[in-house]
Amino acid sequence: MVKGELDPWGTSSVKDYGRLQTEFGIEPVAPLVSRFKKPSPHLSRGIDFGQRDLTRIIEAVEKNKPYAVMSGIKPTGDFHLGTKMTADDMVYFQSLSKKGTVFYAVADVEAYADNGLSFEQTSKIAARNVADILALGLDPDRAVVYFQSEELKVMRLGTVFSRGVTNNMLKAIYGERQIGLYMSALYQAGDILMPQLPELGGPRPVLVPVGADQDPHIRLARDLAARYKDEYGFIPPSSIYHRLMLSLGGSDKMSKRSESTLLTLEDAPKDANRKIMTAFTGGRDTVEEQRRLGGRPEICPVYDLYGFHFARNDEHVKTVYHECTKGIRLCGECKMEAAGLVKSWLEEHHKRRDALMNDARELMTKSRDYLSSAGK
Ligand code: SF4
Repeated sequence: MVKGELDPWGTSSVKDYGRLQTEFGIEPVAPLVSRFKKPSPHLSRGIDFGQRDLTRIIEAVEKNKPYAVMSGIKPTGDFHLGTKMTADDMVYFQSLSKKGTVFYAVADVEAYADNGLSFEQTSKIAARNVADILALGLDPDRAVVYFQSEELKVMRLGTVFSRGVTNNMLKAIYGERQIGLYMSALYQAGDILMPQLPELGGPRPVLVPVGADQDPHIRLARDLAARYKDEYGFIPPSSIYHRLMLSLGGSDKMSKRSESTLLTLEDAPKDANRKIMTAFTGGRDTVEEQRRLGGRPEICPVYDLYGFHFARNDEHVKTVYHECTKGIRLCGECKMEAAGLVKSWLEEHHKRRDALMNDARELMTKSRDYLSSAGK
């Protein structure tokens, strides 16, 4: 991987997370895991692999000081297993202390610039996305949900930041892009730094959980936090990076851009079953070869289903890995087990999510009122 290759708007997966750390200065998470009383599955399984200034959040939790967790999710459709990972991290880091507040940006400006979705379309999708994250465990009493396009504080910060960056600086971070994407990047920096405005309780530490490919946004926001420190008192935002889950086709990351190889939280269990049973695997060409050489979980999206989301516990993930690499487990039976786990999970999730639709709308209204009255 070379500098500039991380594309927050692309589909490719990251091949070498170690090099990503050395090229971009992302620090490993592993030495900090023991500081968490009850590490999340993402932490204990190494799915959250990198961080910047995570100790700032750990210290806020240890000292019972306020902090925020902020991330934006594009409302381009139903949550899928890739977006679920960001949502899971938001829920987990909020849960660490009663002083943790989540800011969830519905990234409709980015969805318009990058995917061409109208603001009317994205507003309909967003309520269901919010119900999904509530069903995943978000505490609505310590959460603020807003639309990027509606939030004047974000727009103002984006406008202020536009005077502090040059075309060359954006090109160095993102490569040659259309102006709309550069603009959405400035608004994203506004999203990341907004929780530090005094009228919203800042300055305070802010953690941004994202996929590894989103690091360019973090670098821009940290750079801007330093440039505008004197004016706003910004603390450089902290970040934690999760590995990118493989699409069921096995080649790219799981993303809305590859619909046929996507598993969404809205999928009917029978559709999820069909997708899993036809998924790419790291298996060998013949049963004899698989028994002799073992499978390759590192390139297998079915293994990702276990490790990233649906395994019963860490021991279960280790068992699947062991049985796969030793040729004890064959892909057909492995897929059937995964499909069963996904089916039970989806059935439960659908029930919870449907029951939370009104709460989602209430949270969006409450957040709008809170943000519009803040500082008045
Ligand atoms: Fe993937 Fe399971 Fe086959 Fe191993 S046995 S390659 S984990 S499907």
